[in-house]
Amino acid sequence: MQSKIIKNAMTVDVEDYFHVSAFEKNITREQWSSLPLRVEQNTERLLELFSQHQVKSTFFVLGWVAERCPTLIQKIVEQGHELASHGYDHQRATQMDEQSFYQDVYKSKSILEDVSGVQVKGYRAPSFSINESNEWVYQVLVELGFVYSSSTYPISHDLYGVPHWPRFKHQRDEGIVEIPVPTLRKQQQNTGIGGGGYFRLYPYWFSKKRIDSFHQQEHQPYSFYFHPWEIDPLQPKVQGASIKSKIRHYLNLSRMEDKIVRLLEDYQWTTMADAYLLNEQKSSA
Ligand SMILES: [Zn+2]
Repeated sequence: MQSKIIKNAMTVDVEDYFHVSAFEKNITREQWSSLPLRVEQNTERLLELFSQHQVKSTFFVLGWVAERCPTLIQKIVEQGHELASHGYDHQRATQMDEQSFYQDVYKSKSILEDVSGVQVKGYRAPSFSINESNEWVYQVLVELGFVYSSSTYPISHDLYGVPHWPRFKHQRDEGIVEIPVPTLRKQQQNTGIGGGGYFRLYPYWFSKKRIDSFHQQEHQPYSFYFHPWEIDPLQPKVQGASIKSKIRHYLNLSRMEDKIVRLLEDYQWTTMADAYLLNEQKSSA
């Protein structure tokens, strides 16, 4: 019963397979424009699935994608989903100084707002790249008029995460709300349960069991994130990437769509703004 009552947030990080941080050494930003886009058709497919299941979602979109696919962005908004920013060209916040971070996020927000005509209130840093080294990013996000960020993952992981950071929605001193990716607390450790990678790795029943445990333990909304390329088993294989990156990226892609459908059917889903009552938060800009 619990699982049907709590409204959870469905989120999609709208980027193509070649934007993924793990492939940045294999495909440079200069090469991106020469590659055929797959993100548009894959996101269209997600819009279809969401529509069939009457699910509203938050789409954290790269400015780079919005520039090339304005119609897709308009469709996202017309269909009642929430539009949010994933930065411009997938540079991690930890790789930028204050000025370049400002420019990256300003550019992304401006493109999204120009194309859609709606105000963008949410931000997700590429690869959850906010940690102790760059907490100044929150001040910049406030200056740019963001109401919330969902950019932290309180787990131990080789690529991201700060295990001792807060696990739930909290107001920061800078005047912005942070909503960490959900974790399951077991034996005094946080394990990741929020994302497409783990979801592709485990059988569906196991992921469901973990989400149900989260609801039972925490009585909080759960949020799920994944990417359009995760339902695209026919995407070109990136040459030269490490075995670990390849396993993480290509594992069980062909089963993902069916699993997503089950997830859509088994829980109540809505946008970040709705699940976490963010429309009641005031923007400072
Ligand atoms: Zn991303």
